[in-house]
Amino acid sequence: MTSDDLNLTVLAGPTAVGKGTVSRKLLELHPEIYLSISATTRAPREHEIDGVHYHFIDRESFEKKINDQEFLEYAVVHGVNLYGTLWQPILDANKAGRPALLEIDLQGARQVKEIAKNAKFIFLAPPSFEELVTRLGMRGTEPLEERKKRLETAHQELAAQNEFDYVVVNDDVNRAVAEIEMIMGLN
Ligand code: 5GP
Repeated sequence: MTSDDLNLTVLAGPTAVGKGTVSRKLLELHPEIYLSISATTRAPREHEIDGVHYHFIDRESFEKKINDQEFLEYAVVHGVNLYGTLWQPILDANKAGRPALLEIDLQGARQVKEIAKNAKFIFLAPPSFEELVTRLGMRGTEPLEERKKRLETAHQELAAQNEFDYVVVNDDVNRAVAEIEMIMGLN
């Protein structure tokens, strides 16, 4: 198998757009999908479980994995922490006939595009920027400074949505999920 044969869909989009909710719904409907669990140096949020939401690792371990070429892609996100997609679980999932879904940022999506030419690239967009500000505020998981940083990144990400094969507007979760099912050929 070459990296061009990977059965891979990248779901990117700005902070608080609802990537988590959309992919959770998608997984409920299609448990065969392997949702990639990223490694990150970010500290876990209160409800987050190591090995389920992320592999929470320290910077030293992350850098070792970079050196050992364990990452399909990795990036510093929001100017602070490292996040990366591990190769091995994706190869294992594909070998078992399972499509892989990556919930990553724009920088990561660009890297994957260089490696996996036939992957599908979906940008999940908010109905408006104002809606994003509201959703991020309501989530309340980040302090004000962090929210500002995330919204700056969001500006840049929204400007790059035309780099993606598909733009899906998350105005309604079920509708957005149905569109993604079609793109992934799951219906
Ligand atoms: P959060 O800290 O809210 O969980 O995620 C912050 C951002 O990091 C999100 O936009 C998410 O898409 C991105 N992200 C999560 N995992 C990865 C990854 O493995 N690689 C890259 N490049 N970005 C990731």
